[in-house]
Amino acid sequence: MLFNQKTIRWKLFLYYFLLFTIFIVSIILYQNRREQNFRVTQLETTLDEYTEITNRFIEHNSLFKDKTFSKLDSLKTIIPATKARITVVDFEGNVLYDNTVADFSHMENHKERPEIQKSLYNEFGENIRHSATTNEEYIYYAKSYKNYVIRAAFVYDIKIKAFLKADWVFIPFFIFLFLIFGFLLRYIANHIGDSISKLKDFAVKIRRNETITTDDDTQFSNDELGFISSEIIQLYQQLRKTKTELVLEKEKLISHLFVLNEGVAFFSPQKQVILNNSHFIFYINNISEESTISVEHIFRLNEFQEINLFIDKTVSGEDFHQLSELPRMEYSVQRDGSYFLIQCIFFQDKSFEIVITDNTKLAKRSMMKQQMTSNIAHELKTPIATVKGYLETLLNNPELAKPKQQYFIEKAYNQSERLTQLVNDIALLNKIEESSELYPRGKIYLKKLVDEVVESFADPIQQKSVVIEENIDNHITVNANYSLIFSVFRNLLENSLNYAGKGITIHISNYHEDETYHYFTFYDNGPGVAEEHLPRIFERFYRVDTGRTRKRGGTGLGLAIVKNAVLSFKGEISARTHKGGGLEFIFSLPK
Ligand code: ADP
Repeated sequence: MLFNQKTIRWKLFLYYFLLFTIFIVSIILYQNRREQNFRVTQLETTLDEYTEITNRFIEHNSLFKDKTFSKLDSLKTIIPATKARITVVDFEGNVLYDNTVADFSHMENHKERPEIQKSLYNEFGENIRHSATTNEEYIYYAKSYKNYVIRAAFVYDIKIKAFLKADWVFIPFFIFLFLIFGFLLRYIANHIGDSISKLKDFAVKIRRNETITTDDDTQFSNDELGFISSEIIQLYQQLRKTKTELVLEKEKLISHLFVLNEGVAFFSPQKQVILNNSHFIFYINNISEESTISVEHIFRLNEFQEINLFIDKTVSGEDFHQLSELPRMEYSVQRDGSYFLIQCIFFQDKSFEIVITDNTKLAKRSMMKQQMTSNIAHELKTPIATVKGYLETLLNNPELAKPKQQYFIEKAYNQSERLTQLVNDIALLNKIEESSELYPRGKIYLKKLVDEVVESFADPIQQKSVVIEENIDNHITVNANYSLIFSVFRNLLENSLNYAGKGITIHISNYHEDETYHYFTFYDNGPGVAEEHLPRIFERFYRVDTGRTRKRGGTGLGLAIVKNAVLSFKGEISARTHKGGGLEFIFSLPK
């Protein structure tokens, strides 16, 4: 369609067209009026000439003085009555002469005739009206002279009317002009509307999410409108770029939020949630006694009242611009053995974030550390007191017999050995727990390692007539630290030798593998451990029979070291009673 009704081009064309029409019509009217005036003036000039001729004739022939106006008839050769009517009227309105009426002395008084009246006070008077005397319509022109008024008139017939009518020949020309301008206007409207139309197409494309081909769609005319349009498009493109970047940043933030161990939620100043991670929901469900999944519900929970009050106070308080530091608060909540740290941090626009950190492990670790410290102190006390006792005895009894002295010294030495073992075990355990990554990993041929461990216990194995059944495939390798895996097998073997008794069989084999792990079993056929102790034997300093174990030189840390070493390589370990009755460990180590 040439012009869509709603387009700006159409409107532009319409406005221009209206303006132009008004302009043309005004010109036509003005021109017409001017021409009409010109023709009236032309007619009046002729009539004026007639009055002048008549006046000169009257004066020249002293017709007024002699009252011989009839002589004016001789003017007929110049002004025939058929062409113009000449009337002479005195100032009282009496008709002195009329060339169209034979008996003019009986004509009615003409003083009140409008053209006569006007001529008395102006240069001349004119009027178009019906004549009562001749019963015809006249166009009158009257001019007052020294003693009388001379009136000349034409019959106002078709000829005169046609003469007075303006000439309309210029109308076709105007119509022609009008059409030319119409086409020009269409072109101009098209041209001016071009940028706007493109802008409109652009807006529609954006709304429909269509792609914008930069060249064609965004080339605008080289004028203000084009400039504004391309500015708008540039601004839009910048906005889109920023938006994409923002979405990207938000995605980053969200994926970051979801890998965090903390529960995080962002809120508007009106306490409406903007963003939260799944941990947040998990933690608030843990903290609250009710089961809820709505994040905003937390402001109604007792555990969050402290934070709720703080938020209300801060949001309704003064602006943050005056503050050197943004408001924040934190406190701890304990629920069912778990410890949570709840933090609230405000941002400049009074929106805020709530961060919930599960501090249970930390709290438990610090509790364990305390326990461990007191356990260590306790474990150290006995051997130190014993060594001290023996040394005091030696110091206080210098005359003691040599074999006795030797006995005390050996006892003290054994205790110091025990102390060394204890300190070594504690150090090893600590190292595994705190910085297992410091142990370099590598490919370990397990059979070779186990052979070495067995070899290191060759003497006690022989003394106690222990049989070692080792069924580890030659090719099996694990990815771990050699010395840690060595201490795993050393501790297990040492325990069997210490607690399972004489003449036992110790079985070590790999029984299964999957993509990532090898699975092992280690058991003996000794007396094992009573069921109730099984869940606790991996605890630090846990001993089944305290007195007996101490006597055998155990520190109570062996299995804790075993478990921690296996866990540090992401393996798993558990203990159970073997079919035959001995203690069995099954564990996995990474390939
Ligand atoms: P320790 O260093 O004192 O040996 P462990 O942590 O190695 O401590 O062992 C914990 C307890 O488990 C020991 O006190 C012992 O009573 C029991 N135990 C460990 N291994 C065996 C086993 N093979 N047979 C029977 N009891 C065992």
